[in-house]
Amino acid sequence: MKILTQADRSFAATLKKVALRGAVQSSAVEKTVRTILQAVQRGGDRAVLRYTKQFDRVALKAEALRVSPEEVKEAYHHIRKDEGDALRFAAQRVTAFHERQRTKTWMYQDETATLGQVVTPVDAVGVYVPGGKAVYPSSVLMCAIPAKVAGVERIVMVTPPQKGPINPYLLVAADIAGVTEIYRVGGVQAVAALAYGTKTIAKVDKIVGPGNIYVATAKRLLYGTVGIDMIAGPSELLVVADEETNPAHVAADLLCEAEHDEDAQVFLVTTSERLAKDVSKQIERQLKGLQREKIASKSIARHAVAFVVTTMDEAIAVANEIAAEHLTLSVDNPFDYLEKIRHAGALFLGRHTPPSVADYIAGPNHVLPTGGSARFFSALSVHDYVKTSNIVHYTKEELRKVRDYLVRLAHIEGFDAHAKSAESRFS
Ligand code: NAD
Repeated sequence: MKILTQADRSFAATLKKVALRGAVQSSAVEKTVRTILQAVQRGGDRAVLRYTKQFDRVALKAEALRVSPEEVKEAYHHIRKDEGDALRFAAQRVTAFHERQRTKTWMYQDETATLGQVVTPVDAVGVYVPGGKAVYPSSVLMCAIPAKVAGVERIVMVTPPQKGPINPYLLVAADIAGVTEIYRVGGVQAVAALAYGTKTIAKVDKIVGPGNIYVATAKRLLYGTVGIDMIAGPSELLVVADEETNPAHVAADLLCEAEHDEDAQVFLVTTSERLAKDVSKQIERQLKGLQREKIASKSIARHAVAFVVTTMDEAIAVANEIAAEHLTLSVDNPFDYLEKIRHAGALFLGRHTPPSVADYIAGPNHVLPTGGSARFFSALSVHDYVKTSNIVHYTKEELRKVRDYLVRLAHIEGFDAHAKSAESRFS
């Protein structure tokens, strides 16, 4: 892991580059994505199947895209009871957390009107579940349960096909979470099918869920045609640690995000150069023998940086500049720093909150903004699955009270008909 102290000339430039990581958009990726989007918009299922063969190396017929209820039932026979129990435990935790996010329709009456907002669930959502380099039954729970809590009726899951039957953990998780349709299709072609609709896959109103750079770019380009939740790209973790922190724990946490993807980005910000050196050594030691050593070591070599600063306030300033997806505060009194943290997708407080506990069973959502977009996006939540419509009600007497103001503003803007629509009530 690259270690930079404030005395290093490249400290500021590296920090700036990291802070701007989300602004780097590959035009090659964008070109590929646009081509696939257009092909699916024009060619529907045929294009979906062609790209599935090209990128996932699986030849399917249109009839095989949809996963049948029998396949979902069968999946239960391919997982152990304790594994099913773990999925159900996670589902309960995620449900309990998200039920607290429900928002209700509200109204109030003042001296001139009755006003409020009606909260309505989105009709149909598409849940993208990644499946290129790993399978994510946990992401199925994280995306589908808040939709269910919000009252979404059609919850459509898509995930890249594997050779052979679809992963049983994904199907069981989908069943537990209340997914209503499942299709074996991934990548840009899946996102396009959900946005435009094909003969087999009916269009949805909003697409949520994490994915690689192709999936994230497709969502970004389709924003407006459909709703999207956020840009949830390759995983990130920034650990802020003081010198009392156990370097083995920090290394383990950093590797836990690095193993997702070669493009995953992990950072350490610390007041102790010794800790940075120890963490770096621990990473080398712990990498050996990891099942996903190749992916994790590429991620570390390409992206990992330890920033060594002098004070905790400086460490927090660096964390705010990077606005990471996950931020760990490995200090004695983490709650003392809460008010100073401005930007992070999720905050893991203290020395005993590994990112993995939040990835799986804590309850808060693990679909989080990456690439610095935590400056303006939030964690996936029930709010992503509802929309609000404003309510306005006037009686004739109430309208009379505001009539003059309305007419004056209409004339300022030159909208005669606006003024008349109010005046007509009194003529
Ligand atoms: P994925 O399903 O996102 O991507 C696989 C698909 O990408 C393939 O099916 C294929 O269609 C497409 N693809 C691959 N190469 C392509 C190419 N050259 N051109 C066009 N399309 C191509 O699965 P993945 O690759 O495992 O990525 C999952 C990502 O999601 C990882 O980066 C992981 O870190 C991230 N993730 C993020 C969060 C979060 O909340 N931010 C949570 C979980 C996972």
